[in-house]
Amino acid sequence: MTADAAGAVREGFRRVHGGSPEGVWAAPGRVNLIGEHTDYNDGFALPMALPQAVVVAARRRGDGLLRLHSAQGGAAATAVLRVEDLAPGATEGWARYPAGVVWALRERGLAVGGADVYLDSTVPAGAGLSSSAALECAVAVAYDELYGLGMARPELARAAQHAENAYAGVPCGVMDQMASVCCAGGHALHLDSRSLEVRQVPFDLAGHGLRLLVLDTRVKHDLADGAYAALRAGCERAARLLGLPALRDLDGAGLPAALTRLPGELVPLVRHVVTENARVGRAVAELAAGRPEALGPLLTEGHASLRDDYGASCAETDLAVAAAVAAGALGARMTGGGFGGSVIALVRAGEAADVAAAVAEAFAAAGRAAPAVLEAVPSPGARRIG
Ligand code: ADP
Ligand code: MG
Repeated sequence: MTADAAGAVREGFRRVHGGSPEGVWAAPGRVNLIGEHTDYNDGFALPMALPQAVVVAARRRGDGLLRLHSAQGGAAATAVLRVEDLAPGATEGWARYPAGVVWALRERGLAVGGADVYLDSTVPAGAGLSSSAALECAVAVAYDELYGLGMARPELARAAQHAENAYAGVPCGVMDQMASVCCAGGHALHLDSRSLEVRQVPFDLAGHGLRLLVLDTRVKHDLADGAYAALRAGCERAARLLGLPALRDLDGAGLPAALTRLPGELVPLVRHVVTENARVGRAVAELAAGRPEALGPLLTEGHASLRDDYGASCAETDLAVAAAVAAGALGARMTGGGFGGSVIALVRAGEAADVAAAVAEAFAAAGRAAPAVLEAVPSPGARRIG
C-alpha cells in the first residue's frame, strides 16, 4: 500500500466530502494458511495479511452525523446516518460494517461521534479474503486515532468482530479481524483465539523459492451463511455434551474417547476441529524451523478434513485444490469460511504459471470460468498510510 493509494483516496474524499481528511488508514484482507473453523472454537489459526487492503480517509464531524461513501458501493455508494440512532437492524447493506464499528465502540462506553468517511478497496468482496473484516478494521483504526481512544490491537479486533456479529448479523469468529490488525510484513500470525495472544512467525516465501497463489473461484453458494451458523452451533453443542468450555479444550489424545460420547453427526465436526488445531501447531513448528515448503502437505491434509469431515468445501474449491496439486503444487486448500471463495496453493516459484494454467484448464473442462489469480505476499496489518 503506497503513498499513491493514500493520495487517490484523499482525492476521492475531497470529491465526495470536500476539503481534506485528517488522515488515511489501510487495513488488509487475509488468507488463512491453516486453522479453519477453529476460531469460534477458541482454537488456533495461522493467517497472513494480503497486500490487498481497504483504505479509508476520514475526518471527524461535530454534528453527530456519520457520512459514509464507498468507491465500491455501486448505486448505494453513500449512506448518511446519525451516530446516536445506530442500532442493530437500523442500517442496510454494506454500511452495516462501518456503522457497526462506530456502534460497537459506543457500546464500549467510548465517546465517539460522527465523521466523514471515504473508502476504497482492493480486496475482492465475497471471495473469502475477508473484505468485511478489512472494512471494519480500517474504520476501527481510523476512529481509534481520530478520537484518541488508544485501544490495543486485540481490543480493536474484538470491537470489529462485535460489529460483524451483532450489527451485520454474521456469526464469525475473531480470526479475520485479528489478522487484519495484528499481522506483520514477512510473517504469518500464530493466533490463540481464546487469549488473543499472537506470535509473529517468519514466513519467507521468496527466500525459499516459493510462491503462494490465491485462486478465487468467484463462486459463493447461497447456503454459505446458514451452513456456517449450523456448523458453529454443532461445535458448541458438542462442547456442551463433552462438558468442555470449547472444543479447543480437547486434544488429539482425548479425541478417541470423546468421539464415543457424541451423536454420530457431531463426530466428524469434532474430529476436524481437533486435528485442525494440531495442524496449526505442526505448521508453526515447520515455519519456525525454516521449512516453509513443509506447509504443503499440511494444507492438502487440512483441505481433506474440511471437505470430508467438516463439509465446508464445495465442488469448485475441491476442483481447484485437486488440479493445483496434480499440476505440482506442494499443497493446496480452501481458505476462509468455505462453500465457495478462494483456494491457496503453495508452489515452487518457477511452477506458478503452470499451476495456474492447469487450474484454468480444469475449470474450462468442467465448463466453468477460470479462477482469478492473486499472489499472497505476507503484508503488514492495519496502519496509518497518509
Ligand atoms: P468476505 O469478507 O470474504 O469478502 P463477506 O460476505 O464477509 O465476504 O463480506 C462482503 C461484504 O462486505 C460485501 O457484500 C459488502 O457488504 C462489504 N464490503 C466489502 N468490501 C466493501 C467495500 N469496498 N465497500 C463497501 N462494502 C464492502
Ligand atoms: Mg467476511
